[in-house]
Amino acid sequence: MRICPLCHHNNAHYFYHDKKRHFYQCPDCQLVFADGKSHLPKQNEIERYQDNQTKNKQLQLANFIQTVINQLPTNNSTVTGLNFGRHLVGKALSKLILGEIELVQYDPSQQYERHVLQQQYDFICCYRVFDHFKQPSIQWQLLTKLLKPNGLLIINNHLLHDLNAFAKWHNKNNLTHVSFYNLACFQYLANLGQMQLIFAEKDLILMQKAS
Ligand SMILES: [Zn+2]
Repeated sequence: MRICPLCHHNNAHYFYHDKKRHFYQCPDCQLVFADGKSHLPKQNEIERYQDNQTKNKQLQLANFIQTVINQLPTNNSTVTGLNFGRHLVGKALSKLILGEIELVQYDPSQQYERHVLQQQYDFICCYRVFDHFKQPSIQWQLLTKLLKPNGLLIINNHLLHDLNAFAKWHNKNNLTHVSFYNLACFQYLANLGQMQLIFAEKDLILMQKAS
């Protein structure tokens, strides 16, 4: 039995294991999570993360943010958003058409950037970052605090659609992925953060904070 790192239920049960890790599932919020003893040391995690700074990753992130921006209602006033996760840099960033939108970036692995956490945002977008949260309850508290009333949270993350297919799910093989969410988890998160879950399908989740 393990304590759930999202809702802190103390009776998360064994769910599955492979050659490298054991996984548990919470009976309350439904989160599936890797045993904390198998978490990579910080330095290894950073190295893997830096190895992963490929042009392709930047392109995927740029496409996601561009799609978010294209859908946002701006009403001719400046809208400030936060890219919470990997930074968009260089060419990928310069090609992004922002218009009336100001985009601030925060990478949770870069501690020196904490000054951007002193304000609230009209929208927050998170591209493939939730899987990496070792303490999702703490990150969730932060995200909901950073969002203005009525603000939008747009998440792109793998959704665990079928528990029976977990053994063959490639997403769990990345050792930096430690928390796995299904629809019920995002419903739990929405209720906890006083947000409305508007949409959760494929890998896209959209929520709005209460006014
Ligand atoms: Zn839980």
